[in-house]
Amino acid sequence: MKTTLVTDWTVGDICKGFIYDKNEGKGLFGLDGKLVIQPEYQRNYIYGDGKKDVAVVDSLLKGYPLGLIYFVRNADGMYEVLDGQQRITSFARFVNQSWPFAVERDGKPKYFNSLAKDEQDKITATRLTIYVCEGTPSEIEAWFETINIAGVPLVKQELRNAAYHGSFVNLAKEVFSNSTNSKMSMWQTYISGDPKRQAVLETALDWVSDGQIDDYMAKHRNDEDIRQLTDHFDTVIDWVDSVFDYTGSEMCGQDWGALYKKYHQKAYTKASVTARVNALLDDSQVTNKRGIFEYVLGGETDKMLLNVRVFDQKTKQRVYDRQTREAEVKGVSNCPLCALGDGNNAKRIYKLNEMDADHVTAWSHGGSTDESNCQMLCKTHNRAKGNK
Ligand SMILES: [Zn+2]
Repeated sequence: MKTTLVTDWTVGDICKGFIYDKNEGKGLFGLDGKLVIQPEYQRNYIYGDGKKDVAVVDSLLKGYPLGLIYFVRNADGMYEVLDGQQRITSFARFVNQSWPFAVERDGKPKYFNSLAKDEQDKITATRLTIYVCEGTPSEIEAWFETINIAGVPLVKQELRNAAYHGSFVNLAKEVFSNSTNSKMSMWQTYISGDPKRQAVLETALDWVSDGQIDDYMAKHRNDEDIRQLTDHFDTVIDWVDSVFDYTGSEMCGQDWGALYKKYHQKAYTKASVTARVNALLDDSQVTNKRGIFEYVLGGETDKMLLNVRVFDQKTKQRVYDRQTREAEVKGVSNCPLCALGDGNNAKRIYKLNEMDADHVTAWSHGGSTDESNCQMLCKTHNRAKGNK
């Protein structure tokens, strides 16, 4: 990647050809049409509050530096503002009197045209400090990430939108970053994060690309059609909706794309899935409620997903003491399964840290996690039992 420091462009140069588009809420073009001030991936202009915009012009009149500005130079020789659009739009509105505002001079409001000539010249002659970057999208993304320090930092997907800006991103944002989309509130049952900060778009891209978002965006950058993205996303959401009746908060933010991939070819009956989900949601021994959905999808085999309640240390100690006392009287191992055998361990007394707590009646068969259902087993036997 090539980075060039440019210090001979003035405020006047940047303002050439600028207009403010009130309908779009953004400043358009500068540098005689060679500069795109507010590319699609940027946030809207937010300095138009009569304070921040005025402060930018005040800074110029006082000779204060405006800080670093970053441009990207594209292959066609056009420039885009990566960082600095709020400052540029503010001074350009003032200088070009496009959606103009006034600053206070000697107690009076002054528009650019009513400033003294030397003050006008001071503003337009101010030289800016601009880094111009040329490179591949991934280089620009990495670079943008490192300069992403002021204000509200951009999130990863906003950075990607910047690096791969083009027709595909614009079309995708209209669907997935648009809070007026009528499907958005339904989508937010299943997808966490702020659509305006690109969380829904990021999820849709993650699902369709199997996690290879950058590759996917690079490949489709100039597409005029996002049907593959929207179709896959709708398919996943429709599938979730067809399997589960439940829409509680535990549904939100699951990796539905991965679950769809893994399980969509299996047949489920909504009524029985619903009954199982409800039972597990009500089960106080299931401490990871978010794991219920994959547990049920997978045929209720992977109990690890549920993080079923375990015996506490005090219970283990009490059961260990009782078992060991009784075993010593009988002259057998304090692991009841070892005691049944006739091998080397039949009379072995294990230390507490050589044993694990076991549900006598398994949780999956209705056994509870209290002392009456607890036995201590040597680690070997406990593992063997757990694997059954
Ligand atoms: Zn044992």
